Amino acid sequence: MLSLRRFQNERRRDIAIIGVASGIGAPDTGCSDGPGVLKAIGIAEKLSSVERHARWTTTISPAGDRDKITVVVECAARTASAVSSAMILGDFPVVIGGDHSCAIGTWRGVSQAIADEPLGMLWVDAHLDSHTLETSHSGALHGMPLACLLGVGSKMLTNGRQVLRPHHVAVIGARSFEPDEYALLRGLGVRVFFMEEIAQRGLEDVLQEALTIVQRGTAGFGISLDLDAIDPNDAPGVSTPSPSGLRATELVSALARLRDHPGLLALEIAEYDPYRDEDGKTLRVVTDLLAAVLGTRDLATESKMAMVALERRYGAHNYDPLPVVLVKGKGVYLWDEQGRRYLDMMSAYSAVSLGHAHPRIVEVLTRQAHELAVTSRAFHNNRLPRLLQRLCELTGFDQALPVNTGLEAVETALKAARKWAYQVKGVPADCAEIIACEGNFHGRSTTIIAMSSEPQYKDGFGPFAPGFQRIPYGDSVALARAITPRTAAFLVEPVQGEAGIIVPPHGYLAECARICRSRNVLLICDEVQTGLGRTGKFLACEHEDVHPDGVILGKALGGGMLPVSAFLATHEVMQVFKPGDHGSTFGGNPLAAAVALEALSVIVEERLAERSAKLGRYLLSELRCIRSPLIRDVRGLGLFIGVEIDPAHATARQVCDRLMARGILSKDTHGTVVRFAPPLIVTREQLNWALQQIRHVFSDLDRELRWVA
Ligand code: PMP
Repeated sequence: MLSLRRFQNERRRDIAIIGVASGIGAPDTGCSDGPGVLKAIGIAEKLSSVERHARWTTTISPAGDRDKITVVVECAARTASAVSSAMILGDFPVVIGGDHSCAIGTWRGVSQAIADEPLGMLWVDAHLDSHTLETSHSGALHGMPLACLLGVGSKMLTNGRQVLRPHHVAVIGARSFEPDEYALLRGLGVRVFFMEEIAQRGLEDVLQEALTIVQRGTAGFGISLDLDAIDPNDAPGVSTPSPSGLRATELVSALARLRDHPGLLALEIAEYDPYRDEDGKTLRVVTDLLAAVLGTRDLATESKMAMVALERRYGAHNYDPLPVVLVKGKGVYLWDEQGRRYLDMMSAYSAVSLGHAHPRIVEVLTRQAHELAVTSRAFHNNRLPRLLQRLCELTGFDQALPVNTGLEAVETALKAARKWAYQVKGVPADCAEIIACEGNFHGRSTTIIAMSSEPQYKDGFGPFAPGFQRIPYGDSVALARAITPRTAAFLVEPVQGEAGIIVPPHGYLAECARICRSRNVLLICDEVQTGLGRTGKFLACEHEDVHPDGVILGKALGGGMLPVSAFLATHEVMQVFKPGDHGSTFGGNPLAAAVALEALSVIVEERLAERSAKLGRYLLSELRCIRSPLIRDVRGLGLFIGVEIDPAHATARQVCDRLMARGILSKDTHGTVVRFAPPLIVTREQLNWALQQIRHVFSDLDRELRWVA
């Protein structure tokens, strides 16, 4: 009896890579060249490290023009022998398929080496691979290896043996299978983690449970990974991709937990098809996966994974960022830690309208930081008054109240409007109402979410502040109807940003202004995102010559460096605030004021609003020329543009992932709209380059859609 301890995965064990160049089990034989490509790029050398040596030991190629089953059976026998020999020699076997029928040989070999002791199995796959010759519709043998290893199917394939016992098997990532397959696995007692469950619980959590299954009562376990488990956006080089799979980065970081796991006996990765992997994306995923499990990642990937994993581990999961770790920004460009350059089409939700590290802002920031940064409003400082003066001169308002983030400025506006209603308009105490719009976004404080129509912003965060009403956006008749004698203000975004760049009908804001004036209701425009040149005017309400009673500014006011926001209003509104009514320790600090003052100068002197108008018109018209069934609508004002994706075909996130792969960073809003809002300093040439990439992304997706259909 062999000592099982001999097979435990330890850092000092050498890695023996066994290629199985089989494509005969799949409808398309492209994956038979996968192992050759991995060998050619020097995967063994890449996996070798100081502590661990890896070598490509052999490549098994199914031979002859005999019937498929005979070829697969013979290939399995040769694979089994290579795997068990590697283990007996003290190496850790890594099998690179080939189509997934290679698994029949791999795990038979491992089982032989451990003298038929119970073997656990993490089967990571989009498919259930549990057909038999009798149930298979296609007859493709790569759809049968799991059934075969469980001892189900024709004796020719199973050899009459049960390599895996069902209660030691966990399937992870299933999303494409036939009912007979699931019926078989369920009947046997195999635990299947479908994508739905993974999406709900998170991969880490699921893997934790799966590990218990594969370890309990076994001599160790293996990982059989069919690359089609991964979302085709992340891994296009797979012979049978189907949408909505595991995210490559998440899988890599989850499997990295198994690095040097003593119970891990062997690893198999199958179905890499180099002919589908045009830009080498899947190759990088395969390398990352191998390196993650075997503990020999290259340093760049290592640091990226470490950052992503650290953030997931120690940060609340209130964002779902794209898997890129940024380390540097200059002008319209951002760089990741591997030195890849991206064009920023997002501008941090318009906070970076001036571009990254604008030299004038950097200069003022550093100079002022050396002079005086934070004093609180307990004293005057020599920077804030100049900012307040400039803000009022540029916008035509009487007074400004400085705060830090956009939502604080919104809160300020709400408080001002309520107190104005009581003190000036004569609304009975605590009865003031504020009207907001469907689809609005004004921030996520407990008060502001009371205005929101987005269920997720509210779910679990009640009770909600009273005194808000909602009306449809873009409908001035609805506003006229909703106003009562108690209405204090109408709060509106001139273009709705987070709702998906919604431009209201022409004349809407002017009509709202007219209604508000005639009914003695304040019109307050939230220009946190649309203001400071973003839509092609200094303020978006200027498009309709509207001068509201109050305006809220933020984001770009901080020059892309600091949170600086403000509420600006007429004297009649602002005079309601008395010392102590409202305030913020950091609001209007000299550092923020100096930076904001310089940001305003840059916006004016570099004529950023005019640039935005001109280039925005160009970008909008070029985007509208893209013909794609994926695009439902293209809309926007200035360099504030949304492309709505038809959810029947793809998600906006998928488009963003593709854009990222081509060097453009953007983010979806609400899953259906891709935002194009570059820094306003962008040039026409840079936009032309971006347009080229965007066209490619849509044509690639169109092609794949047709292929998947
Ligand atoms: N108002 C609008 C229109 C916004 O777009 C945002 C942020 N996206 C906010 C308010 C809130 O700003 P902040 O995130 O700085 O609090």
